[in-house]
Amino acid sequence: MISGFYPGSFDPPTNGHIDVLSRAMRFLDRLVVGIGTNADKKTVFSVAERQSMLNTCLNPIAAQQACVLEIVEFEGLAIEAAQNFEAPLIIRGLRNGTDFDYESQMMAMNRAMSENIETICLAASPEVAQLSSTLVRQVASMKGDFSQFVPPEIHSIILYKYK
Ligand code: ADP
Repeated sequence: MISGFYPGSFDPPTNGHIDVLSRAMRFLDRLVVGIGTNADKKTVFSVAERQSMLNTCLNPIAAQQACVLEIVEFEGLAIEAAQNFEAPLIIRGLRNGTDFDYESQMMAMNRAMSENIETICLAASPEVAQLSSTLVRQVASMKGDFSQFVPPEIHSIILYKYK
C-alpha cells in the first residue's frame, strides 16, 4: 500500500492543485491531503471551508481512481505530519524555477531530518502552470472572472466569499 501526503494551504484550491492531486492518485493507494495551519498566517477561507471544498472536488476523482482519500488539518512540519499520518511520500507540485529552488532546498532539509520520507514533485500541466491561490484571490477580490482557474463545483463558494 503506497501512501502519500500532500501539504498545502489551499486558500482556495485551484485547478493547479487538482491537477497534481488527481495525477498523484493514479499511483497512490492512499492520499492524505494536509491543510497546513499556522497561527501567523491569516487565510481567507477557514479550515472547515477548505476541507469541504477539497472533499467536493476530490471525492469523485478518488472514487474513480480507487484511492483512499483523507483530508486533514496539520500544524508544524510537513515531514512530521507525513510521519504521523503514516504516509512516507510527500507530494508537491512544481510550476517553475522558483518552485523548484524552494522545493529542492526543502527536500534537502527534510531528507536531513528524516531518511524515511521521500518527496516526489510532479511538474504542473502546462494549462495550469501559471495558477496560484494568491492570483485567484486577487482576481476574485477585484470582481474579475476567475471561473477558468478553479473547479466548477467550488466556484460559487469562492464567489460568495467575495460578494
Ligand atoms: P503552500 O503554501 O505550501 O505553497 P499551496 O496551497 O500554495 O501551499 O500549494 C501546495 C502545493 O501545490 C505546492 O506543492 C505547490 O507548488 C502546488 N501547486 C500550487 N499551485 C499549483 C499549480 N498551479 N500547478 C502545480 N502545482 C501547484
